[in-house]
Amino acid sequence: MKFADLHLHTHFSDGTFSPEEVVEYGKQAGLAALALTDHDTVEGCAPAAAACAKAGIEFIPGTELTAELDEIEVHLLGYFVDTQNRKLLAKIAAFQAVRQDRIREMVAKLNRLQVPLTAETVFELANCKSPGRPHVARALAKAGLVRNLDEAFERFLKKNRPAWVPKAKMSALEGVELIQQAGGLAVMAHPGLNRSDDIVPALVEAGLDGIECFHTKHSTSMSEHYLEIADRYHLLVTGGSDCHGFSKGKPLIGTIKLPYECVEKLKAAVKQKVR
Ligand code: AMP
Ligand code: ZN
Ligand code: FE
Ligand code: FE
Repeated sequence: MKFADLHLHTHFSDGTFSPEEVVEYGKQAGLAALALTDHDTVEGCAPAAAACAKAGIEFIPGTELTAELDEIEVHLLGYFVDTQNRKLLAKIAAFQAVRQDRIREMVAKLNRLQVPLTAETVFELANCKSPGRPHVARALAKAGLVRNLDEAFERFLKKNRPAWVPKAKMSALEGVELIQQAGGLAVMAHPGLNRSDDIVPALVEAGLDGIECFHTKHSTSMSEHYLEIADRYHLLVTGGSDCHGFSKGKPLIGTIKLPYECVEKLKAAVKQKVR
């Protein structure tokens, strides 16, 4: 059976693999198709597309945008977006600037807590335009200021912890529109993570195309629950591992096996929109 992994990060955001490494691990996992979904960037898509072409894997360009609705954070996956779309690129650049300012603010908070980290250390380690909390966590661990990434999040970086800084987000409606005007499909990511069922009807109203039913952090019953929701609202079904690199010594890539039939449905939906 052919299967796909449609939620993958690279070092262009907070993943640790290069696009080429993602494709290499994807090949080892036997993927027929894969999508890159880096936070607030599409930079990894061109090199990933080239590597996929060589490896005989179908590539789907994508991104993951952070949005909010009724004060609930919602991650929107954009599949098949035109990676040259001017409006998308302009918005992405604005959100990258927000991310960079937020790193400076988190570091300032850490410094007030007598944790001696510099923003430059974080930026050097991140070495990308879309830095995030995982980079702060890695910089803290590398400097020996915490024992591991979990401790960094638990002590400092999780929501409402002392070095947490809320991120200015676009509205979910704006996010859906942004993805669709770039020719993409807007998909609600990992709905089971923040138990955000209440906002599904409003997202559907905004034109949401799909929902990520299969995700590393979804239990079997959660996946079944979201398959029912997809059915009820006529949403496309997606799934992916949300691999950010090695996890417990192994890459997560390919641990979620989305039936290829779902990819075919996504492609048919994109075609229909273009017409
Ligand atoms: P940001 O976009 O800067 O808010 O960072 C969000 C990213 O941080 C997510 O995509 C996860 O990869 C990671 N993350 C969030 N919470 C935790 C946590 N408690 N432990 C480890 N990583 C986390
Ligand atoms: Zn991430
Ligand atoms: Fe996410
Ligand atoms: Fe993700």
